[in-house]
Amino acid sequence: MRWKISKNIPATAYPQLSRPKLLRLLEKLSPLVIHLLWPSSCVFCGALGEVCCASCLDAHFSRFGGLLSQENSSSSLEIAYGSLYGGEIRDLIHRLKYREERILGKHLGKALGRRFFPLLQGATFIPLPLHKGSFRSYNQALLLAQGASQVCGGSVWDCLYWKENAAPQTGKSREERQKLSSEALGFFGETQGDQDAPFVLVDDVSTTATTLRVAAELLEKEGYTVSRGLVCCYAPPGGIVL
Ligand SMILES: [Zn+2]
Repeated sequence: MRWKISKNIPATAYPQLSRPKLLRLLEKLSPLVIHLLWPSSCVFCGALGEVCCASCLDAHFSRFGGLLSQENSSSSLEIAYGSLYGGEIRDLIHRLKYREERILGKHLGKALGRRFFPLLQGATFIPLPLHKGSFRSYNQALLLAQGASQVCGGSVWDCLYWKENAAPQTGKSREERQKLSSEALGFFGETQGDQDAPFVLVDDVSTTATTLRVAAELLEKEGYTVSRGLVCCYAPPGGIVL
């Protein structure tokens, strides 16, 4: 499956709200207070008090984000990604997935919402589910979906689940990933309120987009048209260097 990358995305139209001076001062001070309690610094600029600044994430996603669409395919699934997989963003994903830093999920989700606001406004975000038996106590895709929906004024619909025999895609070869059965995912089947909202599948990292396509096909069978995926990172075959 070949993918076409496009960087020609509508300029972000995320509304900038004016905030009271005191609130802005507290926002500036709070990272320092947090830093005293829990030392941390931005992976991009080194600012104290946060693992990543919103402005640094926005600048990174603006530079490295894009859209993927399948070439020579009848599928209309287009995937918006915040970054290529590498460098600081890979560290953030590792911390989110393997070091229990779940707060990063909402940070990254909100940044994705700001980056692709014109495409996602009012959407219903559907996270890919956590695998059965996962060591993780939370679903990072759900956190990303929640962050994006907060920014885009949409909703989150956690309606998918993995069946017993589905192994995680992480660690599989490209060929193995593409063999994912269409029966691997299940659907909870509850009625969604806003049938007119665009449906957007959400995941942390996509390599072959196989899971996103399987999920889109499943939802299609249930009567829901999904034309877009949203991922934090796109990891092209062979890897990349940021
Ligand atoms: Zn920063």
